[in-house]
Amino acid sequence: MSATTYSAFRIHKDDQGHHAGIEQLPKPEPASGEVLVRVAHSAVNYKDALAGTGKGKILRTFPLVGGIDGAGEVEASDHPDYKPGDAVIATGWGLSFDHDGAYAQYLCVPGDWLVPMPARLDARSAMIFGTAGFTAALAVHRMLTNGQRPDMGPILVTGASGGVGSMAVAIFAKLGYEVVAVSGKPALHDWLTSLGASRIVGRDALAEAKRPLEKAEWGGAVDNVGGEMLAQITRTVVPNGNIAAIGLAGGHELNTTVMPFILRGASLLGCNSVDVPPPLRKDLWGHLADDWRPQALEDMLTETVKLEGLPDVFERMLAGQTHGRVLVEVD
Ligand code: NDP
Repeated sequence: MSATTYSAFRIHKDDQGHHAGIEQLPKPEPASGEVLVRVAHSAVNYKDALAGTGKGKILRTFPLVGGIDGAGEVEASDHPDYKPGDAVIATGWGLSFDHDGAYAQYLCVPGDWLVPMPARLDARSAMIFGTAGFTAALAVHRMLTNGQRPDMGPILVTGASGGVGSMAVAIFAKLGYEVVAVSGKPALHDWLTSLGASRIVGRDALAEAKRPLEKAEWGGAVDNVGGEMLAQITRTVVPNGNIAAIGLAGGHELNTTVMPFILRGASLLGCNSVDVPPPLRKDLWGHLADDWRPQALEDMLTETVKLEGLPDVFERMLAGQTHGRVLVEVD
């Protein structure tokens, strides 16, 4: 980095096809309402891997800097809520969608996209959570608001070894719920137990649940997988149980019936972490920093890379060879 340029991991789609790598970009000045953040840490989410490899249609315009998560310190501000030196978090909104993301030494964004760093978090710990932790918190919030209680039965978490899944396991365990983890990685059973899962089952555990209503087993569920797994959950959730629909790691279709909804009062709660309004965003980060903070936060960090290491992590994540959270050291 010079005084006028900075390093960024930038994604292109042009005559040469899809390509991405580190480039030097001119350092921007914040325009009206914008804030220039010196990024210290970022993270890798499934969506980042899809965007960075071009294997998913994530970016709406090219070229763009990748990275949906970033945290660091304000260097310059044209927004009344922020001044130089403030510690901030940015996740979601237009990052690595239609606006440059946080895989860069500098991030220039509308100040309204930022969340002030809560007490008890710093850029590193905030990015161990990142969008994964924030989305798990959104699911917890939606379920609790809709009446989820520990005495309704265990919370089933699918895609449990992934970023969102491991966060959901740990947060619900911290809140006193029994958690059953669905994972296709037997080697990680001890790790999932250490995060708070009381039982781990394989991805085929609900395969026999084919009728519209089956034995009600789960008080609620956090689903990162979609497809047949989500359909099986709708058939096996207890009366008034909540299912947070987050991901599609196993498929985007949902073939179920209305029976669980009209005869058991089950709720399917959609979770979209991208456009969460600022007041709720701030509340959820406050919970993550404090009363929902998992005891084993550091154990969820499984890897730390620099910007140069991103392409390798992306490939491994899409091949199912990563688990937990991958932190990116930018500074
Ligand atoms: P990860 O890659 O970290 O985790 C995904 C996990 O899903 C894997 O670890 C694996 O867990 C499981 N999995 C992978 N492939 C399959 C499959 N074919 N069938 C069943 N299970 C599978 O991703 P993230 O945690 O970052 O994201 C999880 C999902 O949530 C993604 O689909 C992502 O796009 C979505 N997401 C949505 C958000 C929103 O706002 N709605 C925000 C963040 C993520 P295991 O091996 O333990 O079974």
